[in-house]
Order: sequence, then C-alpha cells, then structure tokens
Amino acid sequence: MTAYSGPVFEMAAQQFEVIAEYLCIPEDARARLLMPKRAVMVSCPIHRDDGTTAVFEGYRVQHHLTLGPTKGGTRFAPSVDLGEVAALAVWMSWKCALVGLPYGGAKGGISVDPSSLSKRELEALSRRYMQEMIPFVGPHTDVMAPDMGTNEQIMAWFMDTYSMYQGQTITEIVTGKPVSAGGTLGRREATGRGVAHLVHRAADELKLRLGSATAVVQGFGNVGSIAALELYNMGVKVIAVSDHTGALHQPAGLDIPKLVRHASSQGSLAGYSNELGLDPLEMLTIPCDILAPAAVERVIDATIAANLRCRILAEAANGPTTPEADRILEQRAAEVFLIPDILCNSGGVVVSYFEWVQDLQRLFWEEDEVMRREYQVLDRAFERVLARSKRDKVFNRTAAMAIGVERVRGAKETRGLFP
Ligand code: GLU
Repeated sequence: MTAYSGPVFEMAAQQFEVIAEYLCIPEDARARLLMPKRAVMVSCPIHRDDGTTAVFEGYRVQHHLTLGPTKGGTRFAPSVDLGEVAALAVWMSWKCALVGLPYGGAKGGISVDPSSLSKRELEALSRRYMQEMIPFVGPHTDVMAPDMGTNEQIMAWFMDTYSMYQGQTITEIVTGKPVSAGGTLGRREATGRGVAHLVHRAADELKLRLGSATAVVQGFGNVGSIAALELYNMGVKVIAVSDHTGALHQPAGLDIPKLVRHASSQGSLAGYSNELGLDPLEMLTIPCDILAPAAVERVIDATIAANLRCRILAEAANGPTTPEADRILEQRAAEVFLIPDILCNSGGVVVSYFEWVQDLQRLFWEEDEVMRREYQVLDRAFERVLARSKRDKVFNRTAAMAIGVERVRGAKETRGLFP
C-alpha cells in the first residue's frame, strides 16, 4: 500500500513491472524509477455564485526531475484523485522520454465536474488552484498544460495568476495557452493531428488503404474530435463517435465537419440526431479498421479486448487498456496493431514543448513549421518502437515503454544517487 494505491496507479505499476522484467532491472532499482518524486495536495476554496463557500481538492504529482522540469496536463473531473494523477504523471514520464523531450512527467487536477460551475466560478477555481501551486511550479520546475476538462482559457487564467504574483508576464509557466496569450499555432490540434498521422503510418505498415477504411472514435473532446476530423479529411469513413452524452452510428459514414460544428456550439454531441443512437459500450466492438479510444482510462478490459474487431487500435486517451486486456492483445498482435498511448497521443506534449521553447526564446514559428517538426518527432518515435518490437519480438506497448524507461534509467544512472 502507498498513498497512491488505487486501480489506476495499480495499472501503471503493473505495466512498469512488465517492462522491468523485460529490461532485467534489478528489484532494488525499480522503486526509484516508479515512485513519484513529489505530490502536492491543496484545498481550493471559492465563493459560489449563491454566496456560499465551496472547497475543492486539488493535486499535482511530479514523477521525476532527472531530465529537466516536469511537464503534464491538469485534469478537471469528478474522478480525479491522488492515485489517478500519479499514474498519469508516470505515463507522462515514459511518453516524454520516448519522444526525446527534456522533461520528467507530471500531472495535476481538481476533483470537480467543471460543467457544474458558472464561468465566474470556474475562473475563481482555476486561479485559486494555480495560486496554491505557486511554491511548487515554475518554468524550470514544472510546466502545466490542458487535459480532460480544461482548455486554453483555463491555461490563460493559470498564466495570468502566476504572472500577477511574479510581477511580470511569464508565458512559459503553462502550455496550451491561447495564441493571443503566448500560445503556439498548432497546439490545440496537435494531439488529434498526431493520432491521425500515426494511424496513417500504421496503415502504410499494414498496407491498409485509408481511402476505403472505416473508423470508430470514442470521445469527442479536443483530442477525439480533431482526430476524427483529420481521419475524415484523409478519406476515412468515420462510422461511429461518442461522448459522455451518448454514441452515434452511421455505417455510411458520419458528417464529421458538421458534428464538430455541432459539438463546439452545443458543448456535446447531444441533440445532433435521435436516429443514429448506439450503445456506447457496444461501439468499441463493432467491426472497423481503426478504433480510437479518446476518452478515459480503462475502457478496454479483457472481455472487450477479446472481442475487438479493428485492425488498428490507436490509443488517443491515456491508459485506455487494462493490463488484463494487454495480455489478450499481445496474443492478438497479428490481428490488432496497437499504437500505444504514450506514442499515439504524444503529439500534444511535443507541441507543448515547442510552445515552451518559443516562449523562452520570444521567437514564434509558423504553423507549418510546428506541424513539420511535430510529425518529424512522431515519425522517429514510431520507427524506433516498430524496430524494437520487431527486433525483440515484443508487444508494441512493451517496446514503447521500454524505450522511455531506459532513457530515464540511463539518465538516473549517469547522474548518480545524491548525496
Ligand atoms: N495532457 C496532455 C497529455 O496527457 C498534454 C500534456 C502537455 O502538453 O504537457 O499528454
């Protein structure tokens, strides 16, 4: 038992054990790699619109500081707890290391349903959270970004709050900001574009023609909606999408640009159509070429894994597949090609890194430059994962995580143990 114990941290720990065995990491060296360096828990009180006071629990976990500052998103969701945030921080570490960014992983969040707050309350809570975190974050200590339930506006409030306390504007304290407040072109689209780009790479590998392929996308937030739109623009027929309000199914292919417009004006897929409904769970196992879970953790369990009928599983969310499901997917690797989460959704943090670099240099790039560099980083990581999985005949997840863990381990060994 540790302070992080719970189903999500258990999952990150089990995945790490698989990698530690594969890499023959001695038992006594494992905890140093897995256990987070720091965890901060704060109470965030705000005035509600009705005059009462409410207190929300906030968290930030910084996994390791070996390669530079820590980096990772901030999640506003009712499910947020210390264990979930810690697991997400660990995954950020392997992700940053896999794609070669000079960061450790971090993650934070508040246990809150953001849709239950007014805009004023959301601003008050965002600002209070950042204010409570000031002693623990900084452009060279820990750099926040968006995640589920947060967006560019919230990043702008974080940046403004931090800057007000420093007496000067420090845009590099968070990434995923609006372009008008020091953000980079291409960050909002980066994760979804990256997912579609890697699906394209995987399809080439499998000799699958995207022009006649079908896709199912679970989750229609920033990542799912952009991934669906990019796939649609590549000629893929997106036959089902879902969000927390329900699922839509259209075997002839959904009009994704229209759905994106609906979701951005209405806030969700609800109300788009009464006729296209589908059971959101059933959606994961309908036959398709590309399945992209882009919502929450642990949606693909052992039963679903055994029944998947896709050719490519593109993990756009963090941790969508349980370790039990992994054991089944490893057996089915010839049927289902896995693009593991830490590779599949890494376009977001890659472009966050570009945003941080541009902010530090006060020198901004054109969008095509951002995209070109993003795809270059993703291509290199994709090729390394594939080469490793072929060389050692291991599952794609094992190959990807091993590359990440090896890099962190190598840096820790070279730096040594202080004092
Ligand atoms: N929250 C995103 C992730 O899980 C982005 C993190 C970042 O840009 O720092 O990768």
